[in-house]
Amino acid sequence: MTMNRVQFQAGLSMAEFIDRYGSDDKCEAALIASRWTAGFACPACGCGHSSSFRREGRLYFQCCACRHQCSVTSGTVFEATKLGLSRWFLAMHLLTQSKNNVAALELMRHLGVCYKTAWLIKHKLMEVMRLREDDRQLDGRVELDDAYLGGQRTGGKTGRGSENKVPFVAAVQTTPEGKPELVCLRQQPFTHEEVAVFAARSIAPSATVVTDGLWCFGAVQLVGAEHQRVVTGGGKASTELPQFKAINTFLGNLKRSLGGTYHAFDFAKYAHRYLAEAQYRFNRRFDLSSILSRLLRAACLSIPTPARVIRVAEVGR
Ligand SMILES: [Zn+2]
Repeated sequence: MTMNRVQFQAGLSMAEFIDRYGSDDKCEAALIASRWTAGFACPACGCGHSSSFRREGRLYFQCCACRHQCSVTSGTVFEATKLGLSRWFLAMHLLTQSKNNVAALELMRHLGVCYKTAWLIKHKLMEVMRLREDDRQLDGRVELDDAYLGGQRTGGKTGRGSENKVPFVAAVQTTPEGKPELVCLRQQPFTHEEVAVFAARSIAPSATVVTDGLWCFGAVQLVGAEHQRVVTGGGKASTELPQFKAINTFLGNLKRSLGGTYHAFDFAKYAHRYLAEAQYRFNRRFDLSSILSRLLRAACLSIPTPARVIRVAEVGR
């Protein structure tokens, strides 16, 4: 069964985590290995020869050719952090291994940092996840539906159009038998134009998209995808149709996992990032033992995101 495959896999235990990443030195070595897989290369000129030195505890490399200096964290999401790398690694571990989402408040307690720091770490890592999932495209059989975050019925469907809820679309790629494989989520209004933008980015032209009768979903045909419209008539019965089993199960789980975890204000302002976190975790749910090393690699490849950038609610994605 799909759920058992997820729930009973070994993952990365806390004991293994401590063995591998239990000190700042170990984390620094892991960061270097992940960032420069073929050995150090100067970010300025590409030269592979360098000398190294420490300043205020942080390791720096100086290029032998152009004298450019860079720390192990510069140019990554960890740039300019005053926090030890082991705290960052623990945050990445907790965010990727926990069954439920870890809110900034819980992260604060685990890391022993102030709330503001925990919040910023969480949002920076969620932004890494968002960028990593940005070009995700679904193919084959895809169930597509509209839903809301926040309000009384997170992930639910009733109250279409009501205020103080964040609308988003959810698309689940399934096997031909309807088992969920991958998911794409996007915060957006339910208009023909916005569904067209979502489809252009996230739906392959060869996909077959199954939706209910909401008219805007017809826009998936603009990318060449086949559209199967199932007119449900609404109500509870429509949520139990076998054609929508994967999407309804996903939205139900999303509701349970997000319910009560996050602050309502954060939800409204940063919904795109919370959705990206859910998408990132779902799409890697079968491989919990490597998810941390993959997030580390993504964090190395991502550009620094200063707090002022993180705090700007994104528009016009
Ligand atoms: Zn150089």
